[in-house]
Amino acid sequence: MYYGVIPVMIELGYDYPLYRPPSEANSVIFQVTLGCSFNKCSFCNMYRTKEYSERPWEEIKNEIDLVSKSYPQTEKIFLADGDALNLSTSRLIQILDYLKGKFPNLKRISCYAMPKNLLQKSSDELNLLNSRGLNMFYVGIETGHDIVLKKITKGATAKSIIEACRRAKKSGFILSCMVILGIGGKKYSVEHIKETARVVSEVSPNFLAALTLILEDGVYDEFMHKFGEKFEPLDDTSLLDELEILVSNIKPSTSVVFRANHASNVYSIGGNLPDDKDKILSLVRSLRGHPELLKPKILRRF
Ligand code: SF4
Repeated sequence: MYYGVIPVMIELGYDYPLYRPPSEANSVIFQVTLGCSFNKCSFCNMYRTKEYSERPWEEIKNEIDLVSKSYPQTEKIFLADGDALNLSTSRLIQILDYLKGKFPNLKRISCYAMPKNLLQKSSDELNLLNSRGLNMFYVGIETGHDIVLKKITKGATAKSIIEACRRAKKSGFILSCMVILGIGGKKYSVEHIKETARVVSEVSPNFLAALTLILEDGVYDEFMHKFGEKFEPLDDTSLLDELEILVSNIKPSTSVVFRANHASNVYSIGGNLPDDKDKILSLVRSLRGHPELLKPKILRRF
């Protein structure tokens, strides 16, 4: 899950580092939890410096009061940090109701969610949260291949990811999912990406982002150790191969807005699936013969 530091609209005494999805660049961010309640995915360096905690209601309320005075017209809110959905349903409802009362033009409230968070909520709870204004989740699928999911210590299986996402969709949530090219290394590349396409097809999220694995210093050794065998990273041609297999094999039941335009990617690509499949594939294939068009490695970051 991923990333980019927030442009702070108002100084709220944020607990850094602070992350939000790229599409929340113009949202107001409230940190209702700190860190990630799981914090074990071997590729993820986001919250390694933080202990997970839930912020007291009074602090959250004060910040909402403060921002609502300066930005009463706010339309989009992102609840940080890594998994605000880990909060109890009653606390979330308290936050959602208060936000609604303070921001009359609110159109969207979103947060990151792990499959585990989603599965811990009953369908009634998800329905209730959706009806009270929480309407979008960002879910890191990363891979649909069970062996790789285990090696990256994701704490989920393909089955649990599908089940979690289906339940969220059924309760009316917009889903934006992320997958990671290259996360199985050379050995698992084909299985990783085919299984990922299968899981994505079954979930059919509203949005899908394909990022590319870049291991930061803070997790490099841990990732290699947990992988349990030699991990050989993919070169740019193999990353384009994965992208081609992914796009070729996604057969969604509803239209998916697809993007591979993250800072980590070799090239910015996007379109709607399945409508733009041929166009995307033709671009990916043409890039194989033009390495000079790919983003220089030094400019790529996770
Ligand atoms: S659940 Fe998300 S934030 Fe937490 S460790 Fe895994 S990838 Fe990172």
